[in-house]
Amino acid sequence: MAHGLVIRSTGSWYDVRNTDGHIYRARLKGKFKIKDLKVTNPIAVGDRVQFEVEDEVENTAVIFDIAPRDNYIIRQSVHKTAHGHILAANLDQAVLLATLTLPRTSLGFIDRFLVAAESFRIPTTVVFNKTDILNEEGLEFQRELQDLYESIGYNTLATSAIEGDGVEAFRKLLDGKITLLSGHSGVGKSSLVNAISPSLDLRTNEVSTFANKGVHTTTFAEMFELTPGTFIIDTPGIKELGLVETSKEEIAHYFPEMRNRLNQCRFHNCLHINEPGCAIKEAVIEGDIAESRYNSYLSMVSGEDNRR
Ligand code: GDP
Ligand code: ZN
Repeated sequence: MAHGLVIRSTGSWYDVRNTDGHIYRARLKGKFKIKDLKVTNPIAVGDRVQFEVEDEVENTAVIFDIAPRDNYIIRQSVHKTAHGHILAANLDQAVLLATLTLPRTSLGFIDRFLVAAESFRIPTTVVFNKTDILNEEGLEFQRELQDLYESIGYNTLATSAIEGDGVEAFRKLLDGKITLLSGHSGVGKSSLVNAISPSLDLRTNEVSTFANKGVHTTTFAEMFELTPGTFIIDTPGIKELGLVETSKEEIAHYFPEMRNRLNQCRFHNCLHINEPGCAIKEAVIEGDIAESRYNSYLSMVSGEDNRR
């Protein structure tokens, strides 16, 4: 019996990487039980599995068991009652790549992503790329945003994939970890990955599809090994990274700066919209909670779609 990491899932076959870096094509043992009945796929990219080599020449193997997951992200079916699909498991972190221009990533989108990551308990860094094309005013705004997100506990980074600023810090951020790398198309995901992994020559093709997966609707998912032990995860459904089933009352719990104030509201079921004695509104008025964050909160509670 060997231990391995699922690095690719195509439905019935899984690519499993053993501790030496050897990759097998594996399938599930016949009577393998799906442990979580609310999902459609028993095993996902990032799962740690126990397997047995079936054929050394053909590189085939059989998966016997799966280790308990630290976390996972799930794409909820559009039909609320239907089963969800696990996109990836055991993530060390998420990195949200954002640009303030070309394309502009909205604060609503950033906040929505952070809330989703909180709900999945995945620590997140917000990386602001394309610093080279910002004017003084743009840079000032970016610094303010970095201060804001750092003040509520998120790590941030500023990079320019073109000029190389922050690229070494980006490499260190990913080093030895399994990272979900996310962000709108065109923000520079492929460029930054290429900048830290230029020897990825062979994989340039893969990495270029990496940016384009959003257009696919398959359940295909893959993990890329940048350097030994350093992985990024690409799944076609990442744009749809949604919340774990969340009630309106729960959303504020996923805003770290709101979380510890919630018990100060007069009503325990306060939605922090117009209720009297609301500690959250009070904190916004006092300037202790950023207005942009509160606005993101309001649009999430009202169910508006602010993905972009
Ligand atoms: P992806 O869709 O997120 O993978 O984005 P790409 O890496 O394909 O980058 C989209 C475009 O932005 C390309 O033309 C890149 O050359 C450009 N780009 C990426 N990073 C930077 C940057 O830091 N500065 C500037 N000026 N352009 C960048
Ligand atoms: Zn309140």
